[in-house]
Amino acid sequence: MTPTTSTERSIAAAEAHSAHNYHPLPVVVASAEGAWMTDVEGKRYLDMLAGYSALNFGHGNRRLIEAAKRQLDRVTLTSRAFHHDRFAEFCTRLAEFCGMEMVLPMNTGAEAVETAVKTARKWGYRAKGVPDGRAKIVVAENNFHGRTTTIVSFSTDPEARADYGPYTPGFEIVPYGDLQALADAVDEDTVAVLIEPIQGEAGVLVPPPGYLPGVRELTRERDVLFIADEIQSGLGRTGADFACRHEDVVPDMYVLGKALGGGIVPVSAVVSSREVLGLFRPGEHGSTFGGNPLACAVALEVLAMLRSGEYQQRATELGEHLHHELGLLVGGGAVDAVRGRGLWAGVDINPALGTGREISERLMKLGVLVKDTHGSTIRLAPPLVITKEDLDWGLDQLRTVLAG
Ligand SMILES: *Cc1c(COP(=O)(O)O)cnc(C)c1O
Repeated sequence: MTPTTSTERSIAAAEAHSAHNYHPLPVVVASAEGAWMTDVEGKRYLDMLAGYSALNFGHGNRRLIEAAKRQLDRVTLTSRAFHHDRFAEFCTRLAEFCGMEMVLPMNTGAEAVETAVKTARKWGYRAKGVPDGRAKIVVAENNFHGRTTTIVSFSTDPEARADYGPYTPGFEIVPYGDLQALADAVDEDTVAVLIEPIQGEAGVLVPPPGYLPGVRELTRERDVLFIADEIQSGLGRTGADFACRHEDVVPDMYVLGKALGGGIVPVSAVVSSREVLGLFRPGEHGSTFGGNPLACAVALEVLAMLRSGEYQQRATELGEHLHHELGLLVGGGAVDAVRGRGLWAGVDINPALGTGREISERLMKLGVLVKDTHGSTIRLAPPLVITKEDLDWGLDQLRTVLAG
């Protein structure tokens, strides 16, 4: 078929010249503000995905854009070969926000997870005394921690993993939410347990109550680092600074990304204690762009905004409303289950109504953008700045689609 609309032309050109490692919904965004995006034909869509939480503060957030602009006019990149004047403040404020001592900045989430893996192994050899080459990290089934060769080595998703071997050894996979399986997997060579406190890509899976405190207790007893990948769950999404906080759990290490960059630049970090991150010596790890002035300026503004507690409160209040409304749909035939916390939900649609993809396409036609995960699950994670009216409008469109 010959493309006729500007949307069709744009998509055809993208398909001709980009690898097909994604299957985007057929919408071509040209601009965005707050929770709304506008496509190349002028049609408006409510963004109920928020870049997988990278856009917690919405599109074009004025405070963040202004902070970025100010920094763009001063200095954007020095590399870590030199100091720059936003670096110390960024590390200090982020450590403070996390209640920890040290920060190792990177750019993307996957790089931060890689950094966490390297940090845990180093700690295992230098501090715990694990014999060289034997360090083991225990992870959970259906995890999503990123796309590097090492990270997909411990993925259980065949799509993410196939064709990329040989795989990095040193990981053991246990069922998520199963404390006994975790206890059985941890041995004297185990240096870390790496989990998402809520599994995002798996469909917004919240572990059973007591699981995270159990992981905390077990790892403390067995001298193993508890690494919480809060790249998607942290920084306000669930209504708290971190998803771990809902169960009063403090891990040994946070892995952060997505919202830390304010939807403007990729900013990620590993945050931990001096005992752990203090083990690095010059030359042992790094990144050209990690901790650059622009990234630090944006992330500092993100942290200042989070310190007000305003976004966490919005996520809590709007999240209660969202889950109340979604809960009413369960059992009516259209929705099998709803999970989540704060302004974040995984909705299992009755497969008879269509795949998650088909539901997403129908929602798109009504002006709502969401993303399916596996099978018939869709995920809702609007920007935390969304208004209650807009959220209700989005839910109305969902009810329309589910009513067939
Ligand atoms: C998105 C995500 C990552 C990977 O982040 P990228 O910036 O895409 O590399 C890792 N862990 C979790 C939990 C994520 O949601």
